[in-house]
Amino acid sequence: MEKYYVSTRDKNRKISPKKAILEGISPEGGLYVWDDLDTISIDLEQICKQSYQENAFTILRPLLMDFSDEELKECIEKAYTNSFSSSDITPIRKVGDIYVLELFHGPTSAFKDVALTLLPQLMKTALKSEDAKAMILTATSGDTGKAALEGFKDVEDIGICVFYPDQKVSQIQYRQMATQKGNNVKVFAVEGNFDDAQSKVKELFMDLDLEKEASQKNILLTSANSINIGRLVPQIVYYFESYKYLVNHHVIQLGDKVSFSVPTGNFGDVLAGYYAYLMGLPVQRFYVASNANHVLTDFLQTGIYDRNREFIQTISPSMDILISSNLERLLYYMSGKDTDFVNACMSSLHQTGRYQIPQELLNKIQSLFGCAYLDDEQTKQGIREVYNKEGVVLDPHSAIGYMTAKQAEERPVVSLATASPYKFSQDVLEALGTSCQEELSAMHSLQKICTDPIPQGLAQLETLPILHKEVISISQMKDVVKQAMEDLL
Ligand SMILES: *Cc1c(COP(=O)(O)O)cnc(C)c1O
Repeated sequence: MEKYYVSTRDKNRKISPKKAILEGISPEGGLYVWDDLDTISIDLEQICKQSYQENAFTILRPLLMDFSDEELKECIEKAYTNSFSSSDITPIRKVGDIYVLELFHGPTSAFKDVALTLLPQLMKTALKSEDAKAMILTATSGDTGKAALEGFKDVEDIGICVFYPDQKVSQIQYRQMATQKGNNVKVFAVEGNFDDAQSKVKELFMDLDLEKEASQKNILLTSANSINIGRLVPQIVYYFESYKYLVNHHVIQLGDKVSFSVPTGNFGDVLAGYYAYLMGLPVQRFYVASNANHVLTDFLQTGIYDRNREFIQTISPSMDILISSNLERLLYYMSGKDTDFVNACMSSLHQTGRYQIPQELLNKIQSLFGCAYLDDEQTKQGIREVYNKEGVVLDPHSAIGYMTAKQAEERPVVSLATASPYKFSQDVLEALGTSCQEELSAMHSLQKICTDPIPQGLAQLETLPILHKEVISISQMKDVVKQAMEDLL
């Protein structure tokens, strides 16, 4: 079996998993993939008997070939011991006839925690083989920044700089980042919007002067975004975990097929489900659930991907995305690993904002992937309906997944719940017919309705001291990164 990952745009770019985790993206813009994914066959009977951590080992073992057994076990142990408030890590709750997979019991109450607790450990291990240090640069519109800060805080040999748009994140997101502890973390409010900060971070990765200074200090500049294989592969685990639940609770028998509904933005979460499918998980269908930015719904229905449209700000902000980067990996596998085809699509997307796939390929994708979207009004209606019928409060993202699952013909369906309702208290309250002007007090009002307690990380936000107050201009970003590199030595 091949030991190397290749780029979706260049088969001759072979790279070990450790290097792929440190690099993130391939220099020509492609994403790292492993060609032999479908030769793995995970033993489902064994999965049903093991703990989350043991299953993480079984599943990641064949994917991260250059990690030793000991290294991998240690990474998993560090990531998933005492960081999640549920001992199941990703528990399931039956809501009506849908199985809701709760991915939000980690430190920041959003699903990105599941991967961002493990990625820093994988990176730290990969760095040991290189004998180097790393500096993570992340621009965030709110959620990713906090999850990355929590994951990377106090991890040896790694520093992290997070940039968020000043005054343009929610009160909760602001407090989550501004109160961040850790001796290797830097948090900056940036004058401008998210795109300005994001563009500057991309520019810094290409800045030759910064690159030179970093390499003199033996520091790798890298990012922690969802195209990194180290963020993608941890997400495969909970698809198998939900299968374990359904078998062990006698909902299905070993070998029966299951469907999944996934609230989708960058296509990372649902792609991990497809990876699980390639590795032997019996799946009937994946439903890609979107909001008013329904580029993916249109693509899955017509075969035309077209980002030339108005960007709509919704109450499910983590799904407000017009370019779903990880879709490139699905195109790679579904096209029979055809890099020429992927290159043609991606260059067309870059030049015209659009591409179209052949009918035959679309049929193949449609045989496994269904889709639906909900606008804000329908999302609020969904939140209200689930609460009235089942007494369960869902956040807007999870409600989109749930309502999509409800429309599906297949059963059983597992619907992925990606954030705690408390993270979006104001919008959830409004959906339920009350309103509250202030986010932190909205959290308390929601608690009167919601049966679950406020997650600890959110409850303490009101009292934690503000540690990061700096507001900088875009042009100061390079200097603060230089300073952060000094401090890392
Ligand atoms: C990131 C995120 C999503 C979308 O996941 P992708 O992997 O980008 O498709 C959905 N819901 C929440 C709450 C998120 O933070």
